[in-house]
Amino acid sequence: MLATADALAILLDAARPIDGLETLPTLDALNRVLATDVTSPLDVPPMNTSAMDGYAVRIADLAHGSRLPVSQRIPAGHAPTPLAPGSAARIFTGATVPAGADAVVMQEQTEVAGDEVTIVHRPQAGEWITAQGADIRAGSVILPAGTRLTPQALGLAASVGCARLEVRRRVKVAVFFTGDELTMPGEPLKPGAIYNSNRFTLRGLLERLGCEVTDYGIVADQLEATRATLREAAHAHDLILTCGGVSVGEEDHVKPAVEAEGRLSMWQIAMKPGKPLAFGAVRRSAGGAGGEGGGEPAETFFIGLPGNPVSSFATFLLFVRPFVLRLAGVQAVAPRALSLRADFTQGKADRRNEFLRARVNAAGGLDLFANQSSAVLTSTVWADGLIDNPPNHAISAGETVRFIPFSELLN
Ligand code: AMP
Ligand code: MG
Repeated sequence: MLATADALAILLDAARPIDGLETLPTLDALNRVLATDVTSPLDVPPMNTSAMDGYAVRIADLAHGSRLPVSQRIPAGHAPTPLAPGSAARIFTGATVPAGADAVVMQEQTEVAGDEVTIVHRPQAGEWITAQGADIRAGSVILPAGTRLTPQALGLAASVGCARLEVRRRVKVAVFFTGDELTMPGEPLKPGAIYNSNRFTLRGLLERLGCEVTDYGIVADQLEATRATLREAAHAHDLILTCGGVSVGEEDHVKPAVEAEGRLSMWQIAMKPGKPLAFGAVRRSAGGAGGEGGGEPAETFFIGLPGNPVSSFATFLLFVRPFVLRLAGVQAVAPRALSLRADFTQGKADRRNEFLRARVNAAGGLDLFANQSSAVLTSTVWADGLIDNPPNHAISAGETVRFIPFSELLN
């Protein structure tokens, strides 16, 4: 059996960022992955600005008395003239501090009478002034290539005047499902049949990652049909993802079909839920790559997930997610885990790396979902994340465990 960390290392080693860049308006680039560094062409703020409504002064002038004539009024967005010696300038938040002023006194610490202001507070040098470049220096990289563009990142790019961003195209993933028992919701359930829940979970997971998904639905459990779907999917996608039929002794046709159309390694991963996972590639037909460039890879990655709903969910989060993010050009693909207290006892150690469905309680500790079976989807909705419990380790109440929140895994 393969350790989870080793399986992940093999996958990440194989994943290279896809070719194909696009330049998008910054407003349309949410969730995309930056292909090139964003460097600021300017200082932010671009000038010394006032952080308060008040009066800009020269501290040295206050040595001769605190009552000063008001020599100019500076609203935000207007260029001031240099501060006349021995005077104060009325100034507003975000406005440019005039040359010669070295502090802003907030209006609450002043008394105004006619054209004069009395400063009732002795400011420190630089008080309430945000210095030019305090946030960002011209020439500095504010967003490195490989960054996923959050709303905050778009705001940051916009703050330096970036109207367009160079991003990678979206990763194209084909999915299909096998199993004669699978029925779509909306259809009557025949004896022995179950609903194809994984189609909904996996599509949602892929869409959350920003993939362009082609869903071939349920493919008939026949070798020729499976091979034909693989061939069709290979030429237009970066990854083919299937679910079901990768257990040992399975009569399913996915394994022989991928072997006939490419190459496949069947893994037994020392994890629970999960265990079987298939990783390989499907050849692209000679004519299918669309021509002249020659830059198209000769094959498309293949990952086969186990059919059990919780197993396919967990193996997706732990393996497919980081793999897809790497294809998308993302650098930081590891979820950040928390150290939290277990408020339960799990007396029986398993020799596999367990990923337990748990949720954070009001006391900040973790509760465990009672039924940890890999067929129980209820646990995935109840839980807030997965406890990553190492092999051969029983958990005692009060112990600190490694918890990976779904907020880290579902996008
Ligand atoms: P398999 O990996 O094909 O041996 O399937 C393991 C278990 O998962 C079986 O009970 C299947 O019925 C179930 N299963 C397989 N595919 C799906 C699916 N798409 N949705 C829900 N359950 C599935
Ligand atoms: Mg099956």
